[in-house]
Amino acid sequence: TPKTVVMIQCVGSRSLKANPYCSSVCCNVALKNAQLLKQEYPEMDVIIFYIDIRTTDKGNEEYYRKIREADVRMIRGKVGEINEDDDHNLMVRAYSSLTGELNKIKADMVVLSTGMNPSKGTMEAIEVLGLGKGPNGFLSEIHGCLKPQETKNLGIYICGSAAGPKNIPYSVSTALAAASKAAALLSHKTITQELIIAEVDESLCLGCHRCEKLCEYDAISVDEDEIAKVDELKCKGCGVCISSCPARAIDLK
Ligand code: SF4
Ligand code: SF4
Repeated sequence: TPKTVVMIQCVGSRSLKANPYCSSVCCNVALKNAQLLKQEYPEMDVIIFYIDIRTTDKGNEEYYRKIREADVRMIRGKVGEINEDDDHNLMVRAYSSLTGELNKIKADMVVLSTGMNPSKGTMEAIEVLGLGKGPNGFLSEIHGCLKPQETKNLGIYICGSAAGPKNIPYSVSTALAAASKAAALLSHKTITQELIIAEVDESLCLGCHRCEKLCEYDAISVDEDEIAKVDELKCKGCGVCISSCPARAIDLK
């Protein structure tokens, strides 16, 4: 049984050199593991290095306070290096960003809270289903606030960490929302297609591909004759291509 366990938060998260986003679940997971260790092995020295602890969901701040009272050492600071000495001990060095003090800790075990990445199947889903990819490699929704479950493909909904890191309660909520969206769609006998869609004046089109790059729904593409063509079944009439066209070749019909 290790006598000293060091946990390091935000390894590969919230860093411009790796993943710029917060992996969302690691703070609470580390706190839970720290509590379980102290519960089973009260003599164990458990230390958590963190940038800042994020415990935003219901009840989590109270849980965090409980962990601190359980004699878990919380040190605010980024770990600079971990070396193994001749006796195979791990030497952790980190400055505390609160006190400026250099901490050198001999650890028997170091646990890294590594950043959450898109699953291996994400890229396959993007390619096979023609879904959108967000800047961090997760699936992209149509609108993070207004349409967080909808993808650009009608009838395909996303939930959980497919669109970005989420904890279990949030994943369950988004799964329920996605299921509701699917049920609502299936409850209709017919699907109504938007009547207002984009139309390209082929005599004006420059074939610059700007509209093609900006259309969230893959509804417009430039053909082999360098003319933009609208897929009438996919177009949602959002107007993005219209405002982006330098030749003013697109309008709604
Ligand atoms: S942005 Fe305008 S000019 Fe460029 S390809 Fe699209 S329709 Fe043609
Ligand atoms: S109106 Fe919107 S959905 Fe339709 S082609 Fe233009 S950008 Fe795409």
